Amino acid sequence: MPDWNDDFTDAREALIAEIEAEVEETRGFLGIDRVDPRVFQAIRAVPREEFVPASVRDLAYVNRPLAIGHGQTISQPFIVAVMTNALALTPSDRVLEIGTGCGYQTAVLARLARHVYTVEVIERLGQSARDRLIAQRYDNVDFRIGDGWRGWPEYAPYDAIIVTAAAPERPAALIDQLAEGGRMIVPIGPSGGTQRLTRIEKRPGGALHSSGFLPVAFVPLIKTR
Ligand code: SAH
Repeated sequence: MPDWNDDFTDAREALIAEIEAEVEETRGFLGIDRVDPRVFQAIRAVPREEFVPASVRDLAYVNRPLAIGHGQTISQPFIVAVMTNALALTPSDRVLEIGTGCGYQTAVLARLARHVYTVEVIERLGQSARDRLIAQRYDNVDFRIGDGWRGWPEYAPYDAIIVTAAAPERPAALIDQLAEGGRMIVPIGPSGGTQRLTRIEKRPGGALHSSGFLPVAFVPLIKTR
């Protein structure tokens, strides 16, 4: 995985400062004082401009979501930081991601965890994310095309699960695939409205502990049945 040093370095640093300021402003909602510096290191190392369509490359470091085609988006950088932080990843963790999209969040996760399994329902998006991450020499990511609502049972259980599209309710199949001691982050709520970013922890013994913390607006999880 190369470290990127290019024209966007200053813009990337400015974006990180902006995310830090937004974390400070939303502390009451987030219930945290700061984002782990390792999360910022990972964000710093991923060239967001390589994940967005050429037509919006100039906007790659504006703190907002952008359209990536197929009616989908690349998440707002602040949200990527907050969701990644909430997973509390360690370098030995195996992570399941639902909603590969352009692969930006995938790359951030791959820098913090041992392995990422990522599922995308739109074939062309999943394929181009795979090509992109292979070109960037990530070798700890497995890609799957399919309905992420069902997870990826073959490699379960996962230490962390992140869902990057809105779920109408708690995703039961994914909770089954979470390891004891594992953390899940998922936006729960109606599609087209406001969801609540929700952190679900599976305690040793299997008890679930769930807390909602930030209002968000994600594209809906597409159901295939
Ligand atoms: N993780 C992305 C955000 C992608 S937007 C980022 O880094 O910016 C949400 C993605 O979830 C879209 O690509 C969408 O196609 C995908 N998605 C929607 N429903 C899905 C499902 N049931 N299974 C897997 N992926 C799904």
